[in-house]
Amino acid sequence: MTSSNLYDGLRSTPPEPLRPVRALAVGAHPDDIEFGAGATLARWADAGCHVVMAVVTDGSKGAWDPATDPERLARRRREEQRRAAVVIGAATVVHLDHVDGELEYSMALRAEMALLVRRHRPDVVLTHDPWQRYQMHPDHRVTGMAVNDGVVAARDPLFFPEQRLAAHRPGALLLWSADEPDHLEPVTAAFMERKAAALLCHTSQAETTMEGADGDAAAEARFRARLLARAEADGERLGGPAGEAFRRLTP
Ligand SMILES: [Zn+2]
Repeated sequence: MTSSNLYDGLRSTPPEPLRPVRALAVGAHPDDIEFGAGATLARWADAGCHVVMAVVTDGSKGAWDPATDPERLARRRREEQRRAAVVIGAATVVHLDHVDGELEYSMALRAEMALLVRRHRPDVVLTHDPWQRYQMHPDHRVTGMAVNDGVVAARDPLFFPEQRLAAHRPGALLLWSADEPDHLEPVTAAFMERKAAALLCHTSQAETTMEGADGDAAAEARFRARLLARAEADGERLGGPAGEAFRRLTP
């Protein structure tokens, strides 16, 4: 045995893309899931995967105009999320309707996430990376941590027995916006277009997150180019084709 053989088993190689039959994506706000994993979810949905999108907050602070009515904005964003889910091909959108920007970590929130996992029984769960350095938005940090901890609770039957649902252990937890991604889901131009189209359903967010891409063709082109550049950079970083990059944990 040569020394190179000795290390073969330890060498880390980029894992193969996943092929889940059921997937659960959890985002803090309407549009977060599409930014993090829109192309991947569209590809899985086309392959027959049952995709559930769960949105934790109502998005009621997602505007820069101080005259915005938060309740009207929340209603509008719910409808935008519904349309985006149709573009992705998701089976269901679950709205947990916590107040935007005020999400706090609690055992109750962890239980809510465990309940989602036990109810929908996904092979793969996707969410924000709660360990992303310098992530300013509290909802992103709290959602990521609550989903991570909810996955652990969902898998172990002595957590939350009052839920009266069988424990469930997903095969993988994929974290988007990771500082140290180690998993790539490849994308094609067609699936990047689905991701862009889904994001562009969130017209209330055109000003804040999409470079004014609300019916303005030039702005939409800039937005699409930014998404594509990001996918190419992520692919290059992981030594693969253009893709969506994640940190992959095994529950
Ligand atoms: Zn967000």
